[in-house]
Amino acid sequence: IDYTEGRGWHDARLMPYGPLTLDPATSVFHYAQELFEGLKAYRQSSGSIVAFRPYANAARFNRSAARMAMPELPEETFVESLELLVQTDRDWVPTTEGHSLYLRPFMIATQSGLGVNYPSRTYKYMVIASPAAAYFSGGVKPVSVWLSQDYTRAAPGGTGAAKCGGNYAAAFVAQRQAVENGCDQVVWLDAAEHRYVEEMGGMNLFFVYGDRLLTPALTGTLLPGITRDSLLTLAADLGLTAEEGRLSIDEWRAGCASGELTEVFACGTAAVITPVGSVKGVEGGWTIGDGGPGKLTMRFREELMGVQYGTRPDTHNWVHKIC
Ligand code: PMP
Repeated sequence: IDYTEGRGWHDARLMPYGPLTLDPATSVFHYAQELFEGLKAYRQSSGSIVAFRPYANAARFNRSAARMAMPELPEETFVESLELLVQTDRDWVPTTEGHSLYLRPFMIATQSGLGVNYPSRTYKYMVIASPAAAYFSGGVKPVSVWLSQDYTRAAPGGTGAAKCGGNYAAAFVAQRQAVENGCDQVVWLDAAEHRYVEEMGGMNLFFVYGDRLLTPALTGTLLPGITRDSLLTLAADLGLTAEEGRLSIDEWRAGCASGELTEVFACGTAAVITPVGSVKGVEGGWTIGDGGPGKLTMRFREELMGVQYGTRPDTHNWVHKIC
């Protein structure tokens, strides 16, 4: 769908996947005025194809748009664009349990010109779809994480809460450092003190203290994950206390040493729920619990996937039927 200032959204169309032709001076190439979303369509046991909380993605898309000085897209239009694509590509929704059709709505600034003193007056919103298997090849094998001391993902007042490509471009160097140090993923700390845990590469984090859960609060420097939000609700359903707050790396290490901090897991659309097994990057690192997937981690994973794949009741109306 195209957008032109003064005219609004126009020319919605469905077209075969293929290259785009853009002027080399298109502003997105130079000034990164871009944002995206990620969600999945699941084939449920009943045969229906559903999306998980697409209106939550639509709302986040528009919050990102506001931060990036880009036009908002009506939530209905956002959801209809997904419905139309999934209905057309329904045969691409995998039948294998645990697989899904990943949907990538995104928006780019399309005005040409090398001047930097404007937000673009034209934009293009697109959605692409791709069948997806498990995100980590190890399935629910715990991941090892690297606490980044050299880089920061987001500073107060920056774009950390927006899902814009620039955040990811700036993160690659830290992710590469994590891999070079034998870890699977980078974990970001706060910009001011490099002490408080924010989030993992493409996932939010939860810390389990027995029957109490703690997740870093939404301070404006981390992405408000839809999986994170869903788990805060599911935790209450399971009779657990879930808090949003602050956790320093010292508290993380001390909790593991004393045995009070029993599990740590990461959550997001792509990776669902993934246990964190070990930490590196400060003072030699440490292991979480016995390094294996924790009981509550696996319980949350089952509950969430149960709702997504239709084997558990959808008590919060999270599942949106497409066809
Ligand atoms: N943080 C970052 C940086 C991410 O890219 C993602 C994936 N969108 C998440 C957290 C998790 O968000 P969600 O649960 O909405 O997928």
